[in-house]
Amino acid sequence: MQKILQYILPFKLPLKFPNNELNALYHEWDKPSRQLQISAISFLTALLYVIFTFIDKSSWAPEQVQTLMQRVHLLIIVPMMLTISFLAYKKRFYKYVMLALAASPIIAVSCNAYLASKLSNYVPILPEGYLCVFWLFIVSGMNFSYALISATVCSVILLVSAFYLMSQAGTYPMHVFWIICSFSFGLLGALIFDGSRKAVFMSQQELHRLAITDPLTGLYNGTQLDNVLSKEIARGFRYDKTFGLLVIDIDNFKIINDRFGHDAGDKILQNITHVLSKLVRENDTLIRWGGEEFIVIALEVDEQNLINFCGKLRKKIEDEHYDTAGKVTVSIGSTLFRQSDSQESLISRADKALFEAKEKGRNMTVYAKN
Ligand code: GH3
Ligand code: MG
Ligand code: MG
Repeated sequence: MQKILQYILPFKLPLKFPNNELNALYHEWDKPSRQLQISAISFLTALLYVIFTFIDKSSWAPEQVQTLMQRVHLLIIVPMMLTISFLAYKKRFYKYVMLALAASPIIAVSCNAYLASKLSNYVPILPEGYLCVFWLFIVSGMNFSYALISATVCSVILLVSAFYLMSQAGTYPMHVFWIICSFSFGLLGALIFDGSRKAVFMSQQELHRLAITDPLTGLYNGTQLDNVLSKEIARGFRYDKTFGLLVIDIDNFKIINDRFGHDAGDKILQNITHVLSKLVRENDTLIRWGGEEFIVIALEVDEQNLINFCGKLRKKIEDEHYDTAGKVTVSIGSTLFRQSDSQESLISRADKALFEAKEKGRNMTVYAKN
C-alpha cells in the first residue's frame, strides 16, 4: 500500500529504517513524547465527555435515552480514557496502553452507534463518529499502524450501523462522504506526522554521529571516550571486571609534519587508523584522542594479553610502509582498570606509561602495573 500511495502523493512517505536496531532506537526515542501526548489527550477527552453529559439534550433525546447516554459515557468512556491517561505515564505499560488506546475509539463508535439506534433524531451525535476517526489518527498519539487498524474498524462500524439507521432518510451518501473526509484527512495527517517524527529522529542521529566522530579519520573522538569509559567503569565495578586502556602516540610527528608537510601528516594519521582498525577487536573501542594520539579500550583482557596486544600494534605500525615518510613508529602506554580507579586515574596511569616509553627512546610499549 505504501508503494501505491508513494506514486500518488507529492511528498516522500515515512521512511523505513534500514535495520531493526535503528527501528528499536527510534521507538525508544519516540516513547516519552508519545506518552505525554497520550496521557494529556486522553485526560482532555475524558473531560470533554463529562462536559457533554451536562449539555441540555431535551429537544432531541427522550429522557430515558439521556439517562442511557449518561451511563454509557460516565461509566464506560470516561473511566476508560482516565485509565489510559494514568497508565500512559508508566513506561512498562506502554505496549498495553497503545492497544487500549487503539481499542478506545472502537468502543466509543460502537457506543455511539448503539445510542444512535435508540434515537429518532440521531444527527446531533453523528459528528462524534467522524471526530473519533480524526482524533485517533492525528490527536491521540497512537502509533501509525495501530491508528490505521483502529480507524478502519471504526469506519466499518460507522458505515454498517448507519446503513440500517439511515436507509430511509436518504442521508447515507452524506454520511459516507463525511467518513471518507475524516479518514483521508486523518490518514494523510498521520503519514505526514509520522514522516516528520522520523526525519527529526534521523537528523538527531546524524548530529550525534557527527558530534562523536573525528572527521579526518572517521574514528570516535574524545567525547565518545567519556561515554565508553564511564559505561565500562560502571560495568567493572558492578561485575568486578577489568579492561585495558592503551594510549598510542606517534613518535616525532612534529618532525614528520615539518619534513613532509601537513597533508602528508594527515595521510599518515589515516594510514595508522587503518592499521589499528584492522587489529582492534569488534567489541573494543578505538578513539582518536587529540592530535596524533589514539586510545584503545580493550575488553576481556588480562595483563599478559594486554602486553602482547600492545606489542603487536607497535610492530604492525612499524612494519607498514608509509608513502611519503617511509617508516613511522608509535609509543604505547597501557594499563588495566582496577576497582579503585576513576576515569582520570586510569587515563593518567596509561599516560605516565606512555611518557616512560618516550623517555626510554620511543617505538616501544610500557605496561603500568595497577
Ligand atoms: P613525541 O614523539 O614526543 O610524541 O613527539 P611529537 O612530535 O609526536 O609530539 P608533539 O606533541 O611535539 O607534536 C605533535 C604534532 O602533531 C604537532 C602537530 O603539528 C601534529 N598534529 C596534531 N594534529 C594533527 C593533525 O590533525 N594533522 C597533522 N598533519 N598533524 C597534526
Ligand atoms: Mg602527543
Ligand atoms: Mg607524538
